[in-house]
Amino acid sequence: MNIVILTGAGISAESGIKTFRGNDGLWENHRVEDVATPEAYCANPELVLSFYNARRHALLNTGIQPNAAHTALARLQYSHHDVTLITQNVDNLHERGGSPSVLHMHGELLKQICTGCADVTLIEWAQTVRDVCACCSAVGTLRPDIVWFGEMPKLMDEIYSALDRADVFVAIGTSGRVYPAAGFVEVASASGAHTIEINLEASDVAPAFAEHRIGPASEQVVEWVNELLAD
Ligand code: NAD
Repeated sequence: MNIVILTGAGISAESGIKTFRGNDGLWENHRVEDVATPEAYCANPELVLSFYNARRHALLNTGIQPNAAHTALARLQYSHHDVTLITQNVDNLHERGGSPSVLHMHGELLKQICTGCADVTLIEWAQTVRDVCACCSAVGTLRPDIVWFGEMPKLMDEIYSALDRADVFVAIGTSGRVYPAAGFVEVASASGAHTIEINLEASDVAPAFAEHRIGPASEQVVEWVNELLAD
């Protein structure tokens, strides 16, 4: 069976990473316009870099670990099913949970990209506006390899081709407010896939799904994977 999974911030919430749409509408006390747009980076690169430095530091240094939902999806990827795992998350908890392949459509916290030569490198430390690109030696051209609001998500050809082939499409812990990811359910439905939403509450695009499993990802995802693997 071809299974396409889309995960959002909710799958990492029980690992201790805050989601984006809390009750206050802020992301770690910041308005997204101030820290997650190309305009914000242009206006105040120090603030944007310090925001992502703090997220990276927390991911690496505060004991954050993958939870049962991440490891269950990895187990499913090693089964006889053909599983495409797409995440909007910039953390590395799917990989640390054992997933062999993850499509990071919004980029990764532990990568930086040079705006001069497009070289992508791993980064586990704090970025500064004076960093030098190891590939082209330019100064100040390195930025987080994150897709900011208003920028084109990554890997879209691969993602739409997987959605076209999907027998089952599952969205886990995503609010359905960020496009194009929020529209994947419509694409999968049009291809004849059975669609499932797993979330603490109904998302903004809940009516587009055929099946709903309401509850914490650490319970609902494990239950769903166990059912699939028992069949
Ligand atoms: P979102 O914050 O907009 O929505 C999170 C959703 O998860 C909500 O619908 C919420 O009800 C649900 N949820 C919360 N806890 C849950 C749990 N324990 N089990 C199941 N569901 C739960 O997230 P989004 O839709 O992914 O959009 C946020 C954007 O911000 C993304 O583009 C992402 O790149 C970025 N972001 C990433 C991270 C991360 O990498 N972990 C964290 C915050 C934001």
